Amino acid sequence: MPSFYPPRRTLMGPGPSDLHPRVTAAMARDTIGHLDPEFIRLMDEVKTLLQYAFQTKNEMTFPVSAPGSAGMECCFVNLLEPGDKVVVAQNGVFGGRMKENVERCGATAVMVEDAWGEPVDPNKVEDALKAAPDAKILAFVQAETSTGAESDTEALVKLAHDNDCLTIVDTVTALGGTPVKVDDWGIDAIYSGTQKCLSCVPGLSPISFNERALEVVRNRKTKVQSWFLDIGLLMSYWGGEGKRAYHHTAPINAIYALNESLVMLQEEGLENAWARHRRNHNALRDGFEAMGLSFVVEEPYRLPQLNAVSVPEGTDEAAVRSKLLQDYSLEIGAGLGAMAGKIWRIGLMGHTSNPKNVYLCLDAMDSVLTGIGAPIESGIAVARAKQSYANADKIPHMEIPATTSN
Ligand SMILES: *Cc1c(COP(=O)(O)O)cnc(C)c1O
Repeated sequence: MPSFYPPRRTLMGPGPSDLHPRVTAAMARDTIGHLDPEFIRLMDEVKTLLQYAFQTKNEMTFPVSAPGSAGMECCFVNLLEPGDKVVVAQNGVFGGRMKENVERCGATAVMVEDAWGEPVDPNKVEDALKAAPDAKILAFVQAETSTGAESDTEALVKLAHDNDCLTIVDTVTALGGTPVKVDDWGIDAIYSGTQKCLSCVPGLSPISFNERALEVVRNRKTKVQSWFLDIGLLMSYWGGEGKRAYHHTAPINAIYALNESLVMLQEEGLENAWARHRRNHNALRDGFEAMGLSFVVEEPYRLPQLNAVSVPEGTDEAAVRSKLLQDYSLEIGAGLGAMAGKIWRIGLMGHTSNPKNVYLCLDAMDSVLTGIGAPIESGIAVARAKQSYANADKIPHMEIPATTSN
């Protein structure tokens, strides 16, 4: 068998996003032992950088050695015991996975459903919390990657606390792209992923638990059913002043990559990163709207990092994606579940979120859609995006790092 060389793509789907060359270079450094004092020092630095990314002082903040789905599972298995009740707000695919997690813990999920493309409705959540006074936790997704809708985490966490519930919040797509403020908002247990707005390799899941959540874990009557995700055991590996007990072997080189992506986030500054995601979204939006394409999510709830765009009548959406991949080496995402065939999901996540990619995507979509005779306004999108940047340039902002792909 020959060696594998991946094609050079521009990743504008729902994740993974493009890696910065600094992150790929970090990944390629020498592997050292996971109990090497230098690696232990790095673990501490990664924890500190994650505290910054999450905006928290929580000691229990570290990356689980597995993808975002494992971070999700880690939150549920540690906080839930058989017989518990959880209010789960669902407005897309990932809320459904929360329900699965709740049930597999032997707990009951009280579902609060909102239409796909809508944010979670705090009024419905409040009604559900009032109707289930014995509920222990409210769980929801801040940034629904399946639809591009953002929910109001601050308001939902407050509702949960007012009704004596803790919160589990999914910020896999939110973190790094849009504000996430663990301490200010009082989020109790949170998980994220590395391959979306952090622009790191897939396969790690940053999590953070506050004191309230840890108190619940300490008072469990039953053992956490997952040995690998037991937060007490994990913390003996990730925690404690330089003392580390072997639990599993951390994915050393992936941690190098995460460290580098977090160092870059710190260099840019969270507020600048959020503003950059917003600015590039605005340019892409102006371009698409000039083309005659429309967004699925209403403006106030629209995620800048995940752009869900309706497929024009009679257009074969899969053929468009194949052509983009073939001719432009550009990946965009398809709709999931109820939205399959009806939308494209265009990610402007992390390092992918830059003007070069906005222009590439608009130009490529314009050509491909025009080529198949789709009913769009051709030849105007890129100019409209330029105009959007020209307007935004009146506001000062950071330099955008150079891209990996072309
Ligand atoms: C991608 C994603 C996940 C799952 O992350 P994986 O790393 O693919 O396991 C969970 N929740 C949301 C909102 C996501 O976008």
